[in-house]
Amino acid sequence: MTARRHDEVASALAAVRDRVAAACRAAGRSPEEVRLLAVTKTFPASDAAVLADLGITDLAENRDQEAAAKAREFARLRPDVAPRWHMVGRLQRNKARSVARWASEVQSVDSARLADALAKAVRAAWDAGERDRPLDVLIQASLDDDPDRGGCPLDQVRELADRIARWGDFLHLRGLMAVAPLGADPGPAFARLSGAAQELRREHPGATDLSAGMSGDLEQAIGYGSTCVRVGTALLGGRGLASP
Ligand SMILES: *Cc1c(COP(=O)(O)O)cnc(C)c1O
Repeated sequence: MTARRHDEVASALAAVRDRVAAACRAAGRSPEEVRLLAVTKTFPASDAAVLADLGITDLAENRDQEAAAKAREFARLRPDVAPRWHMVGRLQRNKARSVARWASEVQSVDSARLADALAKAVRAAWDAGERDRPLDVLIQASLDDDPDRGGCPLDQVRELADRIARWGDFLHLRGLMAVAPLGADPGPAFARLSGAAQELRREHPGATDLSAGMSGDLEQAIGYGSTCVRVGTALLGGRGLASP
């Protein structure tokens, strides 16, 4: 049962790595420039353990409660392995304190109020001995101007970046993240994102990450300079209708 899951995920991982390599070749880039984040949301901690056994070091979740429990269960299953857990979903300020306990990185920072809450939460977690390093953060940019899907409008990224930079002891600004608009060709959206990422790097040279591309559009994202693809279904299978 477990061995079968291991084999299943191993072949899915090989296929995803092939896709990343082919997209990098097509774009004249090196595959080492593109980090693979395995999105484990809705899947059990045992799947996260299988991914870690296969060499995956970066795991991503989109809900605090599920992630906190999974990270704890993972630590029980693989006490000697310490993956980096990434938050990629919409985050309410009242969850910041919990996220500061389990996350290495939050990719979905889209407002000054959330950035402030995360910085204070990191400071509190630090004082409580629950973490010993700053939180890496990415600004989630909106590519569809739909407030319900989250993200900071592109023309406000600069102001938010300056705000995050002021929390330098607790937050490290690493770059930009975005989700392609629903039901449209992701190319033009990724092109705008890529322009915004270059602009951000001019002011904040450490903000070199561009997190874009999921199971369905990672090739296009890599073509537009993505340095981090977030892949769920192509690694672990479908999440079913009820899942986000
Ligand atoms: C679920 C999710 C992903 C992974 O999507 P797949 O299509 O399953 O690869 C990537 N990014 C975010 C923000 C997600 O919520």
